[in-house]
Amino acid sequence: MTSAVFDVAVICGGLHGLSAVLHLGRAGKRVIMLERAWVGRHASRACAR
Ligand SMILES: Cc1cc2nc3c(=O)[nH]c(=O)nc-3n(C[C@H](O)[C@H](O)[C@H](O)COP(=O)(O)OP(=O)(O)OC[C@H]3O[C@@H](n4cnc5c(N)ncnc54)[C@H](O)[C@@H]3O)c2cc1C
Repeated sequence: MTSAVFDVAVICGGLHGLSAVLHLGRAGKRVIMLERAWVGRHASRACAR
């Protein structure tokens, strides 16, 4: 059995969480996003419409 190792866990997949994941990834961090529903939905989706 293999196990994944991450440097950072970002909780919430809205614009703010996605931005954090992007920038942490670009900085070389191993990032996991924990989203309870759908990425880019909720306020971020309403804003994009
Ligand atoms: C109708 C509307 C119009 C808007 N128009 C503009 C605009 O013109 N310009 C502007 O700058 N801003 C606008 N905004 C504001 C902007 O959309 C928000 O400030 C921004 O999208 C918030 O992003 P967020 O990532 O913080 O939250 P969200 O996009 O709400 O994302 C939060 C995420 O967290 C997840 N989550 C919640 N609880 C948990 C949990 N316990 N575990 C895991 N995941 C969880 C949710 O499922 C969701 O995906 C508007 C907002 C609305 C509602």
